Amino acid sequence: MTTIAFIGLGNMGGPMAANLVKAQHKVIGVDLAPALRDQAAREGVTIAASAIEAVKDADIIITMLPAGKHVRAVWAEAIPAAKKGALFIDSSTIDVDSARAVHEIAKQAGVLSVDAPVSGGTGGAKNATLTFMCGAEKDAFDRAKPILEQMGKKIVHCGGAGAGQAAKICNNMILGISMIGVSEAFVLAEKLGLSHQALFDVASTSSGQCWSLTTYCPVPGPVPTSPANNGYKPGFASALMLKDLKLSQEAAAASGATTPMGALAAQIYALHNAWGEGGADFSGIINLVRGRE
Ligand code: NAD
Repeated sequence: MTTIAFIGLGNMGGPMAANLVKAQHKVIGVDLAPALRDQAAREGVTIAASAIEAVKDADIIITMLPAGKHVRAVWAEAIPAAKKGALFIDSSTIDVDSARAVHEIAKQAGVLSVDAPVSGGTGGAKNATLTFMCGAEKDAFDRAKPILEQMGKKIVHCGGAGAGQAAKICNNMILGISMIGVSEAFVLAEKLGLSHQALFDVASTSSGQCWSLTTYCPVPGPVPTSPANNGYKPGFASALMLKDLKLSQEAAAASGATTPMGALAAQIYALHNAWGEGGADFSGIINLVRGRE
């Protein structure tokens, strides 16, 4: 049994912490929202009054927070309060600069750290099938891996500090761009009188094949499990896709990468959000492409 502090018990962190309880760890949780603290307590999480209190006896500290500024603030507060030899893991999706900055705070304090953002959404968090993309020195990764395996099914060591966040935003930039491309193809097919199924049957076995088409098809019918069959209920909300595309563009600007398709995808998802669809699944972008609900 390991003592684990879990800070951020929201849509993702709540079920992840619950899976660590199921794996027989002592989990000490913190969140700003009283209702989430109560829910976590019902799942067997011991609730602490503050991050400082939660981390003081913890071997491992996991943060699952909205953005880089939250992670910077919590790590700055928690690292001095942690015991010697503690390991810090951040699974939030944050900007690469913040990820590297908090690794540096940890390094200066002599504690090990891992950036370990996830893909797999709330379903993956609940079912312990997340993919973790990790940025860390080897000794930190080796210590984190067995714990991450209790919340996920695939744990990838992507490189040093910040490499997990880099992998996450590069992957999601591909996803945002490809979903718009697939949506445009279906809308063009509609205008040309070609059925959704015919386009799917051809493209899914041809060079247009991709995850946005074959697993997450944005029209109802060809892939019965895709959110298009369920009124575009998320899934992966358009607001989160916009967040990740913005992070990709911040990273592109900071590193001098040229990503015009990523920039355009960010603008298109910003419009989808401005349209009031931030809470819908990101594959609902097809309705924006079509110009109607
Ligand atoms: P969420 O908003 O549901 O949860 C974040 C929680 O952090 C909230 O409950 C909030 O009260 C808490 N919090 C904020 N500041 C705090 C502080 N100082 N101390 C303690 N608690 C604090 O968000 P989520 O959907 O769980 O996502 C968490 C992270 O995971 C985000 O970075 C998100 O981008 C990423 N992510 C989410 C999904 C998804 O499908 N929801 C998928 C992959 C990655």
